[in-house]
Amino acid sequence: MNNFVYYNPTQLIFGKGQLSMLKEKAQQLGTTVLMVYGGGSIKRSGLYDKILALLSDAGCRVLELPGVEPNPRLSTVKKGIDICRQEGVDWILAVGGGSVIDASKAVAVGVPYEGDVWDFYSRKATPNGALPLGTVLTLAATGSEMNRGSVITNWDTQEKHGASTTFPTFSILDPENTFTVPRDQTIYGMSDILSHVFEQYFTHTTEIPLQTRFAESIMKTVIENAERVLANPEDYDARANILYCGTMALNGTLPVGVTTDWATHSIEHAVSAVYDIPHGGGLAIIFPKWMRYVYRENVSRFVRFATEVWNVDPTGKTDDEVALEGIAATEAFFARIGAPTRLADYQIGEEKLQVMAEKATPFGPIGNFKQLHSEDVAQILRMAL
Ligand code: NAP
Ligand code: FE
Repeated sequence: MNNFVYYNPTQLIFGKGQLSMLKEKAQQLGTTVLMVYGGGSIKRSGLYDKILALLSDAGCRVLELPGVEPNPRLSTVKKGIDICRQEGVDWILAVGGGSVIDASKAVAVGVPYEGDVWDFYSRKATPNGALPLGTVLTLAATGSEMNRGSVITNWDTQEKHGASTTFPTFSILDPENTFTVPRDQTIYGMSDILSHVFEQYFTHTTEIPLQTRFAESIMKTVIENAERVLANPEDYDARANILYCGTMALNGTLPVGVTTDWATHSIEHAVSAVYDIPHGGGLAIIFPKWMRYVYRENVSRFVRFATEVWNVDPTGKTDDEVALEGIAATEAFFARIGAPTRLADYQIGEEKLQVMAEKATPFGPIGNFKQLHSEDVAQILRMAL
């Protein structure tokens, strides 16, 4: 096990009716709030009205930044920073999925920074200081509600990068707020959650039984609840379990003491930066191909994955056969829940394959399980065509 420091200050407020806590939280954070949201799902679901009523009860003056795009854009973040500076905003409330939260984090760290907020994403600067941020999560996927990551797309340069920004002060997660998530977004969310676990599970670090079992229990819980939630989108317990898995997959629990990978996320960000496809959809396509490309680096880890997560029976089989059966089971699962399986599903051909391979590796090789250069990324993308 590697050395580690574990720190997570986000207060997680989970369960039915927990939105009522918003009033008290708002009173702690200040009177002028910027409410950030997306394309309108919160208005259709009625959440918008409930939140405005609670903020009004708390005595808050509410400014709004609507229209945050899935794959949130730098231009929208800059609008938010301008509002905060002009209006003297005390704190930010993100209401939505990972895109809304990520954009809100960018605004939060952008306000006190004199330079261009993109500097944080292009690795020219690191944030020091942020406006406080609270979130009301409506989609199980990214874990952004309890981590300091933020992923922003600069559409002018077709770059999509993540940065370490700021933790939410609090996040309110009511599984009922995820009942209206459409089928495709539910599938993408579950693919993203599993992918976050994969990024931290496939490692060469040894003697990490607790981290390994944490990861396996998240994977198994997602797999067990996936078809249940798709069959009945208003199944409270299935939604609750998926929601909690999403948070635990990326709130800093899994990577402690472990050398993690994250190459597949870099590859997916390059694809989204060029084609603007859903993050979870891209991951469902690329991850099994990455697995096939790298599994020989540590076959025993893939044997464990196959036997523990997919119940592959190893009797009479070579390690290679067992590992490949586990990868095939992963592919079959994504196909069974209706996730895309090939780049062709998004009408992506080989035209910009080389461009994406370069964009995936802007700061040098990626990944730790196997270091990937742009030529490797090109091969993985070719396997995904
Ligand atoms: P999202 O982009 O936030 O939302 C996807 C779609 O779902 C939007 O159209 C949204 O509509 C809709 N939606 C959300 N909640 C809904 C609800 N309750 N009912 C109906 N529709 C709903 O999806 P996401 O997967 O959470 O976030 C993806 C982004 O996060 C990507 O940019 C990805 O790269 C990034 N990401 C971040 C992290 C991190 O740690 N920070 C990790 C992984 C990925 P509205 O816009 O109308 O609300
Ligand atoms: Fe992700």
